[in-house]
Amino acid sequence: MTRTSINFSSRIKFWVISIALPVCLFSDSPLRLSWPTPNPAFARGMGYSAFIQKTGPSKEFSSGVFGCVRNNGYKFHEGLDLYPLKRDRQGQAEDRVFAAMKGTIVHLNKNSAHSAYGKYLVMEHSDLQPSLYTLYAHLASIEPNLQKGSIVDVAKPLGKMGNSASYFIPLERSHLHFEIGLRLTDEFQLWFSRKDFKTANRHGNYSGFNLVGIDPIPFYASFQKKSFSKPIEYLRSLPIQTKVRIKTKKIPDFVIRYPTLAPTFKKGSTFKAWDCSFGPFGIPLRLDPSTQSSTKDPMIKILSFDLAMQNKPCRKLVLKEGSNFVPSDQLKTYLELIFGLNLG
Ligand SMILES: [Zn+2]
Repeated sequence: MTRTSINFSSRIKFWVISIALPVCLFSDSPLRLSWPTPNPAFARGMGYSAFIQKTGPSKEFSSGVFGCVRNNGYKFHEGLDLYPLKRDRQGQAEDRVFAAMKGTIVHLNKNSAHSAYGKYLVMEHSDLQPSLYTLYAHLASIEPNLQKGSIVDVAKPLGKMGNSASYFIPLERSHLHFEIGLRLTDEFQLWFSRKDFKTANRHGNYSGFNLVGIDPIPFYASFQKKSFSKPIEYLRSLPIQTKVRIKTKKIPDFVIRYPTLAPTFKKGSTFKAWDCSFGPFGIPLRLDPSTQSSTKDPMIKILSFDLAMQNKPCRKLVLKEGSNFVPSDQLKTYLELIFGLNLG
């Protein structure tokens, strides 16, 4: 038995005998998925308290999950915070962090001061469609043999969990910040340079601005239940929060990179605009070229939106202004990044 070929019936036994190894899930599915820490609690169906790092002693465990969970719901948290099972005598986390899926290391940041993510690395999983990214942040260390371009198999070690960040995270709140999602553009620097941020972009296309996450918990749960076998099936099951038409004839690299998210696009076809469907918290789920745009249409035309899905105070895509509904700055930012536009 190898780490990556554990079948369902032997999984419990494996955890009992070897708690410090990765928790490999669903190896008989086309998507080979591993929990990114050695903690088997999620796969055993245990609650948040068994694996989620909350933001403070008096806070709820839900403060460490994905969504509008920070600052009374006004601040978005793009991933999961997962606590360590083991610590040394000084209280340093000892848990290793594992690749959630097979993929390529596309970015490593070894200088904590250079990012709110601290020491972090990003993988892209180009065997999949769409080619998801995963991100592993606040690491104490990165495996010394890893570099940009390294191919890492599912469940292989990436580094050690820690509390590194450009801000202060107390040792007792050491955790892995873990994300899964999609990348908006290959030309992030062009957008960043236009925005006059007063800081350097040290992370190329792997700045958090350019990464849009999905909630890892239902993602893992759906593959555990074998509801889906491929990421595209999962993404297609997500509800559409907002659909907009943007008046541009540009062909964004997003469409070329993720062809399964643009199934109606044909090279060489003529169109006037793009219909863009965004899922929960703004994940772009589908782009379709459209011939329907008229000269009277605004640059961004809201085609539909689900107000009930916008019941949280953060990451709203559509805002009410008087009797009108208008695109939020967040939605404009996503569209700017995807299409390389300046929407003011
Ligand atoms: Zn986090």
